[in-house]
Amino acid sequence: MPMTYSGHAAYLAVKSLPKFSFKSFSDKGVTVKVAISYPPIVNDRGQKAMVSQNRNVQFFKTPTYLLPVVHGQAATWLKNLGFEVIWDDGNAQLKSYDQWYQNLVAMTPDVVVFESTTPVMNFYWRTTAALKKDLPGTIFIMTGYHSMRRPEETLEEAPFDIVLRSNHVDFVLSKLIPVIAANADWRQSCDIEGLVIRDANGKFRSTGHFRQVEPLERSPIIDRDLVQWRNYAYENGNYLQTPGTYATSVVRDCMFGKCTFCRYNGPDLTFSMLPVEKSLDEYERLINDYGVKEIFDDSGVWYRGKEAREFAEGIIKRGLHKKGCYFGFNTRFEYLDKDTIELLAKANFRFVLIGLEAADEETLVKLNKGYQLQHVERSLKWMSDAGLHPHLTIMVGYYWQTREQLRQTVDFVKSLMFRGLARTMQVTLCTPLDFTPYHQECISKDVLLTKNYDDFDMSKLIVKTPIPHSEYYDAVKELYGIAFHPRFLLRQAQYLLTFRRRDWQFLFTYGIRAIRRVRNHIFNLTSADAGPKQATLHPPTGNSLT
Ligand code: SF4
Repeated sequence: MPMTYSGHAAYLAVKSLPKFSFKSFSDKGVTVKVAISYPPIVNDRGQKAMVSQNRNVQFFKTPTYLLPVVHGQAATWLKNLGFEVIWDDGNAQLKSYDQWYQNLVAMTPDVVVFESTTPVMNFYWRTTAALKKDLPGTIFIMTGYHSMRRPEETLEEAPFDIVLRSNHVDFVLSKLIPVIAANADWRQSCDIEGLVIRDANGKFRSTGHFRQVEPLERSPIIDRDLVQWRNYAYENGNYLQTPGTYATSVVRDCMFGKCTFCRYNGPDLTFSMLPVEKSLDEYERLINDYGVKEIFDDSGVWYRGKEAREFAEGIIKRGLHKKGCYFGFNTRFEYLDKDTIELLAKANFRFVLIGLEAADEETLVKLNKGYQLQHVERSLKWMSDAGLHPHLTIMVGYYWQTREQLRQTVDFVKSLMFRGLARTMQVTLCTPLDFTPYHQECISKDVLLTKNYDDFDMSKLIVKTPIPHSEYYDAVKELYGIAFHPRFLLRQAQYLLTFRRRDWQFLFTYGIRAIRRVRNHIFNLTSADAGPKQATLHPPTGNSLT
């Protein structure tokens, strides 16, 4: 059944757009002012949405500020090309929505670039409809996985000028902005791949799929000063030490790219890798020039095999493993062997995030996770024996998940945590998003309980399930309850006997933050238990798009 969308108010705003202005920036001898913008999005519980970095949006009272890596590279690239770039992250800059809005209008940017995902689409459509009235000459560009897969929808719902059909925002913007700057008739003439453009008559024109043919290293390493990196250096639940930061990702998209619920899955995605030496240079600068104490690479899946070993050897050769900085990355079970894990530990790697997702074979096959349960314990044992801190991600509430499957997952995770095979974990409600295969499946099987995008915020289940939703919420609470279980606490105390600095930090520094996060999750679920309360996103007034 096709999804229908609402958004009449914004649509009316599109219809009544002022005539497009055809100024050519180069003719006027001025540079283009580009704002890469993240508005503060706050719901009526006072929780902020974490949107950037193509993460699943979640609302938290105590937020984590994630540096948007690819957009950071785009900003750096545009600055290097001589454009004026405004790094406008209202969340990380601790602005209220009104402050952010007024500041942006006052800066009168020529171009505004947004990044978005399913649960905040309505918000962005509303916000852009309002902004277009205050900034009629500004070009609004939407990026992100949702709009990239449904570009026409966003152009219909709000007065955007361009929607990117590529997640290689840096590559596309580095070509697009010079074309806009040099050509007054860019709406008609621009033929850069990967765009849907609103033309001078208000019609939509696609320039075809973007194919990444250039090597990833053409995109610059992030300019830390431009993105005000310190705004992201402290409020991040995964850092054991601060200031921490995200590295420029060494892998674009994912070398596996098949998990059905994941954005890094689809014909529109590619896989490319940064040379080891280039990434090592960045680490060296971050440690020596910026005093960074923890670096996380948020590539879908980090280096494996030869590159992983070369990277660890490079860290050791440059003496960076003795500078008191921890390193971390995302990986998959079975991607790193015992020797590589030991080498990484020697190079002072610590935090390793791995997607377990579930503990029953049927679910793993349906999700196309591509690993077998029998290898999980062995992988985790190698990591924990080497002193790494494995962090598991788990989801519950798949539309097929039975009571037995749910119990199997809960029991398996508890057993791993009690035995010290994983240090930390996070549990989320599996939510179909951004037209991933899982999302498409939910639509075609007619299991979605809502079509309102605001409901896709992961605070409640929105699919039909074989057992009551409350049982999944209880499972999440039970899993987070592990943090307070005497067996888990005893295990942490035992780690202290290893006299490893990181284990002491883990218990005394990280423990407090972890408990704060657990409370956040449980608070959200308690609200979900109370019934499907509609979260209102600020600005709440004006036009409800539902
Ligand atoms: S391995 Fe991870 S990043 Fe890659 S497709 Fe699966 S979930 Fe996505």
